[in-house]
Amino acid sequence: MTEQFDVVIIGAGPGGMTAATYASRANLSVVMLDRGIYGGQMNNTAEVENYPGYNSILGADLSEKMYASSTQFGAEYQFGTVQHIERNADETWHVVTDMNDYQANSVIVATGSEYKKLGAPGELDYAGRGVSYCAVCDGAFFKNQEVVVVGGGDSAIEEAVYLAGIVDHVTVVHRHDQLKAQPILQKRAFATDNIDFIWDNEVESINGDGTKVESVTLKNTQTGETTEHATAGVFIYIGLLPVSDAVADLGVTDDLGWIKTNEQMETSQPGLFAVGDVRQKQLRQITTAVGDAAIAGQNAYAYNESLKDHAE
Ligand code: FAD
Ligand code: NAP
Repeated sequence: MTEQFDVVIIGAGPGGMTAATYASRANLSVVMLDRGIYGGQMNNTAEVENYPGYNSILGADLSEKMYASSTQFGAEYQFGTVQHIERNADETWHVVTDMNDYQANSVIVATGSEYKKLGAPGELDYAGRGVSYCAVCDGAFFKNQEVVVVGGGDSAIEEAVYLAGIVDHVTVVHRHDQLKAQPILQKRAFATDNIDFIWDNEVESINGDGTKVESVTLKNTQTGETTEHATAGVFIYIGLLPVSDAVADLGVTDDLGWIKTNEQMETSQPGLFAVGDVRQKQLRQITTAVGDAAIAGQNAYAYNESLKDHAE
C-alpha cells in the first residue's frame, strides 16, 4: 500500500525527530521512518553532558523526551529500512522501504553515520564475541576483565572512561602519541586509575580460540615492532562513515558519501533536505543535528507551500 505524506523523514535520531517536531507543528503530515528504534546514536550513549538544559542526561532518556516532543503534533513513527528514493515526474518523491511505499512532497534525510571498521583480521570473526562498537550495549559482559579500546577521538576516550567504571582494566590503543579527544575527556581519562595507554600502535589482528577474543597483535607505527597484548574485549571507536546508500544515485553526496547541503539544508535536488551527522560538516553532535533539523523542518514547510502556489 502506498501512503501519502507532506514530508517523509528518513531516520528518527535527534535530527529526524526534531525535523518531525518542526514540520508537524507547521501542520504538515509527517512520517519518520527508521530501521530501528527511534533515538539513533543516543541509544548507544550512556550520558550526554553537553545538551543544553541538562547537566547530564542518559542518552536513552533524552531519546524518549525527544520522541514525545516529535509526535505531539501528529507526526508518526514507522518501522522500515529505506532502500530507495526517487523523484517523480511531477517533482514529488517516492520512498521505498522493505515494508511499504510512500509518496511525499519533500524528503528529509537524517540517516546519520555508522562506525568505521578496522579491517583487521579477526574483527568480523569475533564481532559479538569480544569485538564491540558499543560500550553501553556490551560493557557489562566484561566485568572484572581487561578490555582494549581502539582510537583517540571523543568516542574512544568517552567510552574508555565509561568502561573503566565496569571492567577491571582498560587499555587505550592509539596510533599517535597524543589524543584528538576534547580536553575535558582527556583529563578524565588520564585521571582514571584503571586506564592505561599504548601510544603509536595499531591493531594488526584480533586473535582468539575460535569462540572468544584472547589477545590483539599490535604494530608500532614508528618502529614496525609487533607485540601481543592479552585482552577479553576489543571496543573499536575509530570514526564514522555516512549512511547514505539510499541517496547514492541522486548526485547529492561528496566523494566520501557525506550529503552536501547549503545553509538551508537543501541538497541540489528540489524538495530533498539533509540534516545531522549524514551531512558534510565539521561538528557532529546532538545539538548540531537538532539545529540543522529545525532549519530543514521549517524549509520543508516553505517548500510544501511553494508547491501549492504552483498548483494554483
Ligand atoms: P543518528 O543519531 O545516527 O540517527 C540516524 C537514524 O537513522 C538511526 O536511528 C538509524 O537507524 C536511521 N537510519 C539510517 N539509515 C536508515 C535507512 N536506510 N532507513 C531507515 N532508517 C535509517 N553527541 C553529543 O552531542 N553529545 C554526546 O555526549 C555524544 N556522545 C556520543 C557517543 C558516541 C559513542 C557516539 C558514536 C556519538 C556521540 N555523539 C554525541 C554524537 C551524536 O550521537 C550524533 O551527532 C547524533 O546522534 C546525530 O544525530 P542524527 O539524527 O544525525 O543521526
Ligand atoms: P573521530 O573524531 O573521527 O576520531 C577517530 C579516531 O580514531 C582518531 O583518533 C583517528 O586517528 C583514529 N583512527 C581512525 N582510523 C583508524 C584506524 N584504522 N586505526 C586506528 N585508529 C584510527 O571519531 P569519533 O571519536 O567516533 O567521533 C565522531 C564524532 O562524534 C565527532 O564529531 C565527535 O566530536 C562526536 N562525538 C562527540 C562526543 C561528545 O561530545 N561527548 C562523544 C563522542 C563522539 P587520526 O587522528 O589519525 O585520524
